[in-house]
Amino acid sequence: METREAKPVIVLFAFPLQGHLNPMIQLANIFFNRGFSITLIHTHFNSPNSSNFPHFTFVSIPDGLSESEASNPDVIDILHDLNSKCVAPFGDCLKKLLSEEPKAACVIVDALWYFTDGLTENFGIPRIVLRTINLSAFVAFSKFHVLREKGYLSLQDSQADLPVPELPNLRMKDLPWFQTEDPRSGDTLQIGVMKALKSSSGIIFNAIEDLETEQLDQALKEFPVSFFSIGPFHRYVSASSCSLLTQDMTCLSWLDKQTPNSVIYASLGSIASIDESEFLEIAWGLRNSNQPFLWVVRPGSIHGNEWIEILPKGFIENLEGRCKIVKWAPQPEVLAHRATGGFLTHCGWNSTLEGICEAIPMICKPSFGDQRVNARYISDVWKIGLHLENKIERLEIENAVRTLMTSSEGEEIRKRILPMKETAEQCLKLGGSSFRNLENLIAYILSF
Ligand code: UDP
Repeated sequence: METREAKPVIVLFAFPLQGHLNPMIQLANIFFNRGFSITLIHTHFNSPNSSNFPHFTFVSIPDGLSESEASNPDVIDILHDLNSKCVAPFGDCLKKLLSEEPKAACVIVDALWYFTDGLTENFGIPRIVLRTINLSAFVAFSKFHVLREKGYLSLQDSQADLPVPELPNLRMKDLPWFQTEDPRSGDTLQIGVMKALKSSSGIIFNAIEDLETEQLDQALKEFPVSFFSIGPFHRYVSASSCSLLTQDMTCLSWLDKQTPNSVIYASLGSIASIDESEFLEIAWGLRNSNQPFLWVVRPGSIHGNEWIEILPKGFIENLEGRCKIVKWAPQPEVLAHRATGGFLTHCGWNSTLEGICEAIPMICKPSFGDQRVNARYISDVWKIGLHLENKIERLEIENAVRTLMTSSEGEEIRKRILPMKETAEQCLKLGGSSFRNLENLIAYILSF
């Protein structure tokens, strides 16, 4: 009787933040569809809903975060805590998994798990890293030590608009900066992540090489490691959601009632937060623009507030159906909806890429890290959006929405994003850059 060959196993180690879980699970689906068995290690903290992915084996490890550590508003602190507390549980888990047959071909870890540097190699298994940012932001991060040495990361406000000599597309204020009490803690993170990337067996990007050829060349010069840009991940398979918050599906029936390309969708992602005055300025700016808007306000994302209780009484009702505010949305579906015509975004890379894939022009309100780099690329390099450069004020928001949605400048921006959407589609087709890179990646993994 013919014996069926067991599928090669890939072990993936997901980082428990929404913007990291999504691409890791999408990547797992890509490998599953190419015949691999998937084992996904995750922490108890922010664990994904395994019932949505019955084709994967989920292994949960204790992360040791106390309740107060898990609710620390300083995300960089959480990242460090997780990296120190998961060493032993991850090591034990990997040891057990590697004692099973068939033995895993490799481990794919999120770049934020910098503690895995050296550890997986001690087990004799190659470690490939998933970097969830694009190549332009990667190059900016890779120059981190020079930027810090030259004092660029601690410049005065008056120098914010100066160009960065080492990164000609960026201004000083665009450099990756972290929302943390202690800037040294951000530096330690960068140094750890960079070291672990350099010693890895390869780096996977949810990026499109054709959109960032120059940056790829620059990155390869600094990193003697194999690169695989195989994005956009979410376009390979329509996977179930791995949302940590419940998606409010009533967004879609509300969008059904709006005219095509009329709605501005606003969301600042899963981590960024704003203060009360910024929230109110955005609210009035959106209202005064006269466009219909769908706004995701994550509970707890306005400092000192549970949700939207500081909105003036009757604000929503007075808009007579022109506004919908939800706690969390099915974002990919919202962006794909015919009624959505613009995206006010914090410029996280997943959101940016999802916007490009649907040819939705953007208004950028970045907060920290790679979001600032992405915003500059969106507004000044790719020219597919407008940048809210100054303090958030209602008039600035109102003007940006009007320009994007109703002016000839907005029309030009809309035209420029179409070829990018086209590139994002072509790169996955036979012979396209992501198609080829995925073939190479699979051959590489099978060669271990
Ligand atoms: N997202 C979502 N619903 C929302 C807002 C965001 O499903 O209401 C998803 C979005 O589609 C993206 C991810 O959350 O895949 C956010 O990742 P991103 O890199 O854009 O930003 P982060 O949250 O990491 O800052």
